[in-house]
Amino acid sequence: MLILTKGSIDECNTKYAQGGIAAAIGRDDSPGLHYEDTMTAGAGLCDPEAVRILTEEAPARITDLIRFGVPFDTNEGEVALAREAAHSVNRILHAGGDATGEHIELTLASLARLRNISILEYAQATRILMDGVAARGIEAMDTRTHTTLEYEGRHVILASGGAGRLFTLTTNPEVTTGDGIALAYQAGAALSDMEFFQFHPTALRLPGAAVFLISEAVRGEGGVLRNNKGERFMLDYHPQGELAPRDVVARSIVDQMQRSGEDHVYLDITHLPSQLVSARFPQIYRFCLQHGVDITRDRIPVAPAAHYMMGGVKTNVWGETTIPNLYACGECACTGVHGANRLASNSLMEVLVFGHRVVERTVAAPRAAAPVLGPLDGVVDFARCPEPSLELPGLSLARLQGLLWGEVGILRTGAGLQKAVGVLRRWDTTIGPPSDRSTHELANLLTVGRLMAEAALIREESRGAHYRTDFTEPRDDWRHHIVFAKG
Ligand SMILES: Cc1cc2nc3c(=O)[nH]c(=O)nc-3n(C[C@H](O)[C@H](O)[C@H](O)COP(=O)(O)OP(=O)(O)OC[C@H]3O[C@@H](n4cnc5c(N)ncnc54)[C@H](O)[C@@H]3O)c2cc1C
Repeated sequence: MLILTKGSIDECNTKYAQGGIAAAIGRDDSPGLHYEDTMTAGAGLCDPEAVRILTEEAPARITDLIRFGVPFDTNEGEVALAREAAHSVNRILHAGGDATGEHIELTLASLARLRNISILEYAQATRILMDGVAARGIEAMDTRTHTTLEYEGRHVILASGGAGRLFTLTTNPEVTTGDGIALAYQAGAALSDMEFFQFHPTALRLPGAAVFLISEAVRGEGGVLRNNKGERFMLDYHPQGELAPRDVVARSIVDQMQRSGEDHVYLDITHLPSQLVSARFPQIYRFCLQHGVDITRDRIPVAPAAHYMMGGVKTNVWGETTIPNLYACGECACTGVHGANRLASNSLMEVLVFGHRVVERTVAAPRAAAPVLGPLDGVVDFARCPEPSLELPGLSLARLQGLLWGEVGILRTGAGLQKAVGVLRRWDTTIGPPSDRSTHELANLLTVGRLMAEAALIREESRGAHYRTDFTEPRDDWRHHIVFAKG
């Protein structure tokens, strides 16, 4: 087995996951309850079979992680379980307080190094190699020398993560540029649910400080949101207050910011015992302190930031895509477990459950000659989207991010989406051939951003993380997926 990664193996979204990982292992919990919560968060677009598999197989994957050595936090000898938004019981396992992803990533990466797995760092996948209709390998570029090599394989598995870098403000690291999704699309694979992107309500918003996630677990432990007058406001928007679904909290914060004219609200945990705060959230405590905010005494300035991509390469429950021998898992895949909105802490578990299934399937399976995933529902024809004539500014990463943040972000309108689609399509026709890591990434972001804007324009309703101010309610006739495949 060969793993290609475009930076060092440690640079990925997984490393930054703070809150934890969801599994129904508590006495008052069951896969059935976890299933119900996930389906509710997904707002009518989850695939019930994928959610059943996620929730039933989650406890076994936790057993694997414990066996591999992930040191989950305990309380009086039992694995400690925290609460996060829209979970009906305490279900979130965590490690090192808020360093869950780092522990999982370091454990699995060091295990891979001990096994017979070759890891090639600084090798950026730039194209999926095809043999007729089937995948046969990957073209990759050494990001330091820019030389290109081809790697052939019985199976190609995309595990390239999300695309948070589409937006000006994001909790995601630099590697999240949607590469796998764009490459799969260019190769002819179907993509689904591209319009659904989750914005995390609470990222640190301080001049001069990087966008840094303040985990939902902080609200789960009792943190409250206050406006610039010091008033707690979330109960005015939703009966679950700070633990309302993420999209509701993010929009409520935007509303408060628009009223005050400021670029942040405050998250307040000063009423909790300071030792509990620093022990439970050591990374957040340290990071904020380095930037002059002592979270045990000061309110934390926060604002929403782009966080998680629900859509991606369409797969079945074995990670198979519409291209024979091409598999996808993790954030680049759309397995159907998240629907229109991801339930907090389900994504690390999705990586494990469906990554495990991909391995089970590919270890045994010979190369396939025909697609395994069935015919597509709802492939969309874009001839109906008119192209406005525009004075076009040149393409740059900052301009792309600004356009997506402004027009394809937390609040969307038909007019804004129309403008975004027009600009993105024009950029798509003028972009030159990529030559290094950053130009490849920009081209991939452009592809993914364009498809996201097009899907968001087509979906004339609000559902889950997709909110249109011109269609504020969900519509029954829109209870289906938008699937793209390059003709
Ligand atoms: C700040 C933060 C906090 C989070 N907290 C939680 C949480 O508490 N619980 C939870 O469940 N989820 C959380 N998430 C989401 C979760 O971390 C991710 O969804 C998950 O880790 C994705 O894992 P992945 O393996 O799909 O991708 P990643 O972990 O991002 O790995 C993708 C890898 O692919 C490589 N790659 C990308 N493109 C290429 C290319 N062209 N060629 C070669 N290599 C490439 C990248 O360099 C990277 O190493 C959080 C995310 C962030 C950013």
